[in-house]
Amino acid sequence: MTGAIKFLPAKTFVAVAFAVFGFLGLIVWGEYSSWKSQVAHIESELIQTAKALVQHADDTVDMAKFPLAALITQIEQERDVPDMPAKITQVMKRQVDTTPWLGALSVVDADGRIVATSSSINTSGINFADREYFVFHQSSDTLEPVLGRPLKSKLSGQWILPVTQRISNPDGSFGGVALAAFILTELTNFFQGFSLGGEGSFLLARRDGVVLARAPFLQTLLGSSISSYDLFTTHLRQRHSGSYHYISPIDDTLRIGGFYQSEHSGMVGLAAASQSEALATWMKGARIRWLSCFILVTITGFLVWRWRRQIMLRRASEALLVAREAEFRLLAEGSGDLIQRFNGHGIREYLSPSVREIFGVDAEAMLGTHILENLHEDDHEVVTQVMDRLREGSTRENMVVRRKRADGKQIWLETTLNRLPGGTGGTDIRIVAVARDVTRQKSIQEELDALANTDELTQLANRRSFNIHFEEMVLQAAQKLTPLSILMIDADRFKFFNDTYGHASGDDCLRALADVVRGSIRRSRDLAARYGGEEIAVLLPDTDGAGALKAAENIRQRVAGLRLPHEKNLPWGYVTISIGTATFRPAGGDSLTTAELFERADHALYRAKNSGRNRVAAAGDEVVVTIDRSGIKSV
Ligand code: GH3
Ligand code: MG
Ligand code: MG
Repeated sequence: MTGAIKFLPAKTFVAVAFAVFGFLGLIVWGEYSSWKSQVAHIESELIQTAKALVQHADDTVDMAKFPLAALITQIEQERDVPDMPAKITQVMKRQVDTTPWLGALSVVDADGRIVATSSSINTSGINFADREYFVFHQSSDTLEPVLGRPLKSKLSGQWILPVTQRISNPDGSFGGVALAAFILTELTNFFQGFSLGGEGSFLLARRDGVVLARAPFLQTLLGSSISSYDLFTTHLRQRHSGSYHYISPIDDTLRIGGFYQSEHSGMVGLAAASQSEALATWMKGARIRWLSCFILVTITGFLVWRWRRQIMLRRASEALLVAREAEFRLLAEGSGDLIQRFNGHGIREYLSPSVREIFGVDAEAMLGTHILENLHEDDHEVVTQVMDRLREGSTRENMVVRRKRADGKQIWLETTLNRLPGGTGGTDIRIVAVARDVTRQKSIQEELDALANTDELTQLANRRSFNIHFEEMVLQAAQKLTPLSILMIDADRFKFFNDTYGHASGDDCLRALADVVRGSIRRSRDLAARYGGEEIAVLLPDTDGAGALKAAENIRQRVAGLRLPHEKNLPWGYVTISIGTATFRPAGGDSLTTAELFERADHALYRAKNSGRNRVAAAGDEVVVTIDRSGIKSV
């Protein structure tokens, strides 16, 4: 049971966890793909930029070749013309004026002195023999233009990129150098036209790794060699264009570099962007996506956790409920009392096994039966009223009712009914009833009641019972306006009877008198009681004075008819009785105390005794009592 309780939610939980992690996996994969394509896009842009850079540099250097070639041709042709320097100066100035990126054109002789220059600066005393390109052309017989290292112009002080060409004497010996000086800033300005962000950089290098230009401008790098860098040692060995990621040795930032090497000149361009800067926009979007995702996953996680906890709690409370129910069932089924549950219509839904003993029927057979079934007809009203009260909101009721067992015997049931919590009232309620068989107690009680109300000698009602009934009957008579008569019977000269025949015979005689009285009153509501020693009182409801006299006379005659010997009761010599009667005949608003009515009957009896015994005397014709408004009673 416990295993199942824990297992089920855990399984679902694992499934949900899988779904969440699967979802997260997809997100991560999607983000990674998006990042990769973004990087690829940046790389491709950088390569394109590097290519544009190199092509521009190529074009620029190529363009320098023409004025240089033209210059050298002119020098060689007009070597002996005296004003040749002045003439070529003119040409060079024109050329420089029309070419913005060209800083200067100069011609240097075999000793490094200026022969002619487009620059208007005073060149006396300036010598170029120490320049690398000069030294190179001095010892090399190549006639091709050569791209030199960037250097600071001795004429203008500007950073320039020299393209130089050897001038040969007619005998082929070294005759000097023609120089085209590119303004380096013109080139770097061109680079800056490509926006690579605040941390982006451009670099142009010669095939051998000598740095020709760099933007942003970095003097220390110009002319130095980067041939030991990965770009040269690894990447350019594999392909002439591509991209790679590296930590810049200059500023230690992580960069993405796109490079391109010209097949034509061997020049290498490198366009680099700071990775964090290039991906900043993407990162901004990604952060929002990640945050949303994190919030979503957190909320989902929380909901799943709460959902699982609720399931666990519910399962636990269900288990507790099952245990409780088993416990209560055990209690109900171990009890000798009958425990039943029925709905608001009175249909039984549960009966404890003790029903077998109490009703003589199995519980199953009684399921679905109505509580009024086999109930004593006189008790239907009680049960209906109790049910009505429960439906109207009462939570607890008690009743004692009679019911027929399966074997036909009647039993008394003392029942406590409890309304169960829940339900909306009316017939939507459920009731638990605990019933106990009180038949035995009931019969004992009835016996005790009978004992308490019966005279032992005569088995007539005793005086206590008489008084109770007398009060009730007077009250009823006054309410219903029906007459009520009382007979007071007294044995004649009974003291003598005892004296003559003994006390035991006196008792027998009293029993015989009681039997006569009992046999003479036929209506169920009539009541005969032993009022005192040998006095019997009879109450006759609904009986007027005449009826009372008739009944009294009947009794008197019957007693006399017994001819029970009583030698001292002369003149008859047998047992006789005297009877006094009184009747209460109420009109509207009348009332009378029992003592008053009794007193009248006693008075009549007294008269019967005094007038000779063995006779009936009535208190007046009929006793009529009325009470007027002033409270004065009249008879
Ligand atoms: P009277 O005709 O005037 O009524 O004369 P009486 O002797 O009957 O007088 P009274 O009614 O006063 O007498 C009551 C007598 O009844 C007293 C007693 O001897 C007798 N008696 C009362 N109770 C019992 C009883 O329980 N058993 C017997 N055997 N005698 C009783
Ligand atoms: Mg008496
Ligand atoms: Mg008497």
